[in-house]
Amino acid sequence: MTRVVQKFGGSSVADAESIKRVARRIAATRRAGNEVVIVISAMGDSTDDLMDLALKVSPQPAPRELDMLLTTGERQSAALLAMALSDLGVPARSYTGSQAGVITTAAHGNARIIDITPGRVEKSLSAGNVVIVCGFQGVSQTTKDVTTLGRGASDTTAVALASALNAQYCEIYSDVDGVFTADPRIVPEARRIPEISYEEMLEMAACGAKILHLRCVEYARREDVPVHVRSSFSDNPGTWVKDLADIKKGPAMEEAIISGVAHDRSEAKITIAGIPDAIGRAAQIFGIIADAGINIDMIVQNASRVMDGRTDLSFTLPMSDGRTAVEALRAARNSLGYEQLLYDDQVGKVSVIGVGMRSHPGVTSTFFRALADAGINLQMISTSEIRISVVVAAEEVDEAVRVAHTAFGLDSEGEAVVYAGTGR
Ligand code: ASP
Ligand code: MG
Repeated sequence: MTRVVQKFGGSSVADAESIKRVARRIAATRRAGNEVVIVISAMGDSTDDLMDLALKVSPQPAPRELDMLLTTGERQSAALLAMALSDLGVPARSYTGSQAGVITTAAHGNARIIDITPGRVEKSLSAGNVVIVCGFQGVSQTTKDVTTLGRGASDTTAVALASALNAQYCEIYSDVDGVFTADPRIVPEARRIPEISYEEMLEMAACGAKILHLRCVEYARREDVPVHVRSSFSDNPGTWVKDLADIKKGPAMEEAIISGVAHDRSEAKITIAGIPDAIGRAAQIFGIIADAGINIDMIVQNASRVMDGRTDLSFTLPMSDGRTAVEALRAARNSLGYEQLLYDDQVGKVSVIGVGMRSHPGVTSTFFRALADAGINLQMISTSEIRISVVVAAEEVDEAVRVAHTAFGLDSEGEAVVYAGTGR
């Protein structure tokens, strides 16, 4: 018997009709002789609705109570799905994250899975049930309180369960047909990527591709759980995310140096201009940022000016942390001794990603040439072994994605792409 874990996102269970549709799909998988564990997200936008409701009642809700509230969204969809399956003659049981043995840290709103003790899930499977587990939640090992794992984290629940249960693979169902070479809303010629390595998917997720939760991909890579990303609205094959060694290289795949182009509009740029180029200054700046609990992304430091030994330093960070960072750096102006502090959130990051660039020279020049020919100025650059990212003006992001996609030969020849959703 094959054991599979399938996760259905909020858009797949948005209303009663959709829940019944998903139940029919699951019933078919069960009747085909599989052991089935389902991880479910809250219906439609109900997590956002619960959040809005909380903020109407209290401007700064206690994190513990917010988690008590938000976890009810998944509890609803899980129970409703179990009812729908029973009506189809398929025995099913729903479990909260806590009941399913999802043990986490105590950090409300952003807890991490420490361990999964799937005894109860295993028993329920042996009894012949389809097991339905509430995504995005668990219970703290220390406080015994209910926790949530961060927005969009049902993906992570699914992969963690697949690993703990030794499932053959994990399927993530949303409203898109898989991972594309670029966002099809920007590049209509984008194509579905049939197979992609964990490393490339990690870079894509970190660079703004919203198809899979970043932590879910980290988990899948660490535990080597193959993930199949596909649509619950069709039977089309999706994208397999797996170990690079398990990816079959067809002639077409060998050609592809770049697997995809990702973009991200959620970051802002801070420039500290005219800062004395003294030992320890960067440590001091990023100490201030770290103490404010802010993660940074790219950093660029200029060579220091000959006349006065001062330099400029720029870095990017989540836009949502911009204000906190600026205030913290302003407060430290005297000890840092800079001339000017500049903040710019009209920027975007465009990245080309592909394991092929390890062994192919000229990828950087192709990318930069395409951007230059389109008249796009590069504000910052950063690279990893399999990624090149640039920061450009916000209004040039779409064009940058398009020209990069074309320059690396990723445009499909007129093949129509089925794409409507948000990837949730
Ligand atoms: N319902 C949660 C959210 O909207 C978790 C998820 O959808 O994965 O963030
Ligand atoms: Mg959701």
